Amino acid sequence: MNTEALVIKLEADFSFVDKPVYRSICFHTDECYQCSYLIDDLLIYKGREIPPQAIRCVHQEMSCLSAKGWRWVLPSYLRYCLTDEARYNEMETEFLIYNLAPSDEYKADTHQRLSGLNKSQINCLIEFLNWCKQQESWKDYCLEEIEQGIIFLSSIKL
Ligand SMILES: [Zn+2]
Repeated sequence: MNTEALVIKLEADFSFVDKPVYRSICFHTDECYQCSYLIDDLLIYKGREIPPQAIRCVHQEMSCLSAKGWRWVLPSYLRYCLTDEARYNEMETEFLIYNLAPSDEYKADTHQRLSGLNKSQINCLIEFLNWCKQQESWKDYCLEEIEQGIIFLSSIKL
């Protein structure tokens, strides 16, 4: 699937959703400092769609976002990954790939974080990883993680 086709698929499958209220955005309990910092950092973003600055602030903390948090962030995050800006600033896409390719010990948690998504959204994530696989930098740099991610997402039964 080329970039244009994937953009169209994203628009169809990942509509923007309301921001989850306060702590429901987080995966962990109040003892997790990262979760608390994340809530504070995200306070200024109240809308359904979030800007690149917000994605920059969550990309390393996706494991602290709950299923509701993922549902809120992903529509903006995925669209961002397909922009030229993301190609120059590659960390966000790289971290998303890693987050979608958990090692065995994190599979259950990751599964839970993706539990707010429906079947077409999971399929769309698989298409996203297939797209990454066609991009020169991702293919060279993290082919193994991309393939692990595709296998992991394909194993999710919905
Ligand atoms: Zn946390």
